[in-house]
Amino acid sequence: MIVGLTGGIGSGKSTVAGLFSKLGIEWVDLDIVARQVVERGEPALTAITQRFSATIPSIQNANGELNRTALRHYIFQHPDEKAWLETLLHPLIQKRSQMLLSKTQSPYVLLISPLLFEKNTPTDKSISIDVDKATQISRATSRDGNTPEQIKRIMATQLSRQERNQRADYIIDNSHSLSDTERQVYAIHQMLISLL
Ligand code: ATP
Repeated sequence: MIVGLTGGIGSGKSTVAGLFSKLGIEWVDLDIVARQVVERGEPALTAITQRFSATIPSIQNANGELNRTALRHYIFQHPDEKAWLETLLHPLIQKRSQMLLSKTQSPYVLLISPLLFEKNTPTDKSISIDVDKATQISRATSRDGNTPEQIKRIMATQLSRQERNQRADYIIDNSHSLSDTERQVYAIHQMLISLL
C-alpha cells in the first residue's frame, strides 16, 4: 500500500515522515528523487546542459552540479522550456521512485511530495499535513533563511490548504507541539494497519 504524504512548503513533511520512521514505516521523497535524477553523471544533466548552455551560461556550478536556482528562474519565465524539462524528468522520476518503492519492506510506504495532488500522483491513500499560513511562513523562513515573500511565491504554486485537505483521506494538524503531531501519526498508523 502506497500512502501519499503531502503538505505545503514548511508544513512538516520531513518532520512527520520522521515520526512514521519511528514506527518502522519507510518512505520515498519525490523531491529527493527529483534531485537524484539530475546529479552529476546522470544522462538528464547532460541533456539539460546541452539544451540550456547557450541561454543560461551558468547552467552548471563550478563543481559540475546543476545550477538549480538559475534553471528555476529561467523556466519560470519560459513555460515552453518548463514543459520540455518536465517531459524529460517526469518518466525518470517515476522510474526511480518505482524502483525505490519496490525495495521497501514496511507494511505500507509513504510517498512524500508537496505536489502530490497537483501532479495527480497515484497512491492508495493520502495524508495532508495542515498548518495555518502564518505558522507555515514562520517555520519555512526560520528554517532556511528565505524571506516571507519567497515562501509566499512558492505557496502560490501549490494547492490551497482547503483544496489539499479536501482531497486527502487523512489530515494531520501540525500547528501544535511535536508530541501532539506524534499522537495523530500514531492514530493514522493504526487505521492504515487495520486496512492491510
Ligand atoms: P519543505 O516543503 O520545505 O521540504 P517540510 O514540509 O518537509 O518542508 P519540515 O522541514 O518538516 O517541513 O518542517 C519545517 C520546519 O518546521 C522545520 O524547521 C521543522 O523542524 C519545524 N517544525 C515542523 N513541525 C513542527 C512542530 N509541530 N512544532 C515546531 N516546529 C515544527
